[in-house]
Amino acid sequence: MAKNAQKPLVKFYSGEEIPLELHKVRIVQKLHLVPIERRLEALREGGYNTFQLNTTDVYLDMLTDSGTNAMSDMQLSAMMQADDAYAGSQSFIRLKQAVEDVLGKSYFLPVHQGRAAENILAAAYVSKTSLVPMNYHFTTAMAHITQNGGRIVELLYPEAYVINSSHPFKGNMNLEDLEDCIQRTGREHIPYIRMEASTNLIGGQPFSVQNLRDVRAIADKYNIRLVLDASLLGENAYLVKQREKEFMNKSMGEIIKTMTDLADIVYFSARKLSSSRGGGICTNNESIYKELEALVPLYEGFLTYGGISIREVEAMAVGLYETLDETMISQSPTFIKYLVDEAMKMNIPMITPAGVLGAHVDAMSFCAHIPQSQYPAGSLAAAFFLISGVRGMERGSISNQRDEEGNETYADMELLRLAVPRRVFTLSQIKYVLDRLHWLYDNRELIGGLKFVYEPTVLRFFMGKLAPVSDWPEKLMTKFKADFGESL
Ligand SMILES: *Cc1c(COP(=O)(O)O)cnc(C)c1O
Repeated sequence: MAKNAQKPLVKFYSGEEIPLELHKVRIVQKLHLVPIERRLEALREGGYNTFQLNTTDVYLDMLTDSGTNAMSDMQLSAMMQADDAYAGSQSFIRLKQAVEDVLGKSYFLPVHQGRAAENILAAAYVSKTSLVPMNYHFTTAMAHITQNGGRIVELLYPEAYVINSSHPFKGNMNLEDLEDCIQRTGREHIPYIRMEASTNLIGGQPFSVQNLRDVRAIADKYNIRLVLDASLLGENAYLVKQREKEFMNKSMGEIIKTMTDLADIVYFSARKLSSSRGGGICTNNESIYKELEALVPLYEGFLTYGGISIREVEAMAVGLYETLDETMISQSPTFIKYLVDEAMKMNIPMITPAGVLGAHVDAMSFCAHIPQSQYPAGSLAAAFFLISGVRGMERGSISNQRDEEGNETYADMELLRLAVPRRVFTLSQIKYVLDRLHWLYDNRELIGGLKFVYEPTVLRFFMGKLAPVSDWPEKLMTKFKADFGESL
């Protein structure tokens, strides 16, 4: 397949390089581009929190890439042959074979989504004295470790926190810090080292295979398990092929196997890797399998469905094989790179280099006039929805929790994340995002801050309600209508 991979970018006669959709649309879903007045009402009803919007008011849903990707014709047809058995389903046997063929692991435990795998790993291995070193946390991975009394430590290189960088592998683990951390903590307190492919919360940034090899060598030296979070593994492999010399002529399958071979345990969310629901844990180590096996029927479901509908089990199997298809995997990163590069040409501050899963706008710089106490990223998310109908996600201080004394803990970065679900949006839709972002950037001084009016103590970013600190949304709407001459 790799030999025949098609070029996801084409050069136009004008010289411009344009991302090309290498698929056709055969099932459509209607979208709603409602007038700006209605969008303002929707924001008021939803407490200026994009999680609280209904899709009837949303034009492009860029909230997340989780469970929102397009399925292929092959996946949909496989779903029709689902063998709905509680135990011993043939669909599960096909999925187990796909895991072995693609990820190279012969023991497989299905779970209902990625965080369920994290729950099982933490329940099995984490205790009150545990410390789990990782390149960077993911919200649910960290929650399950702390829930079991453990702590985490993030060991990235300083480059990872630089907004504008050309570093190809910002997700690399800091090897010196890792070794230092193991020596100070004592290996007996480290149940596993966690490496996350395409490190989500720093902008979908990959690690190199060489870095993973070096982490493996340290894990071996101290006899510690290495766990790979493979939720965004396909894109990490694609970027390795683009950016790491040794792998430029290797197939996706070879790169993926090289990475999974280095880990003792691989787990993933199939909401991103392969399908739209489900997840799993796999290993070649029988004793690890035995340690985890009993927890699956306890929390998830029997070992041959793990809380996933059997139709989704079939879709996952086909989706895993499709991860080997460079043409398919290339689509989302290529569109994201286009979005980021074009936005940079408009001087819009973005995280670079472009990563996977979405484009990330640096709200701290976009809304430099809004103090962190008034949530620049949340304000930008609300303002962008108001003027475009595009729903992004705040990844800044609203997504943080207050400390034990009730003080704000401000985020390192204030980001508006615009997720690009796999193979869902067309180029004209991406161009619309760019155009409205450009207009908003030119009118950024009209954006104001937000304050909480209802603030839950746990995961406030999901349920919280906010209000603008002034009548800035009305002023922004007035300017928009004056410039565009209409409400859309
Ligand atoms: C989404 C995600 C998870 C959690 O998966 P869910 O299916 O949403 O529970 C874990 N790790 C990473 C890197 C993810 O992106």
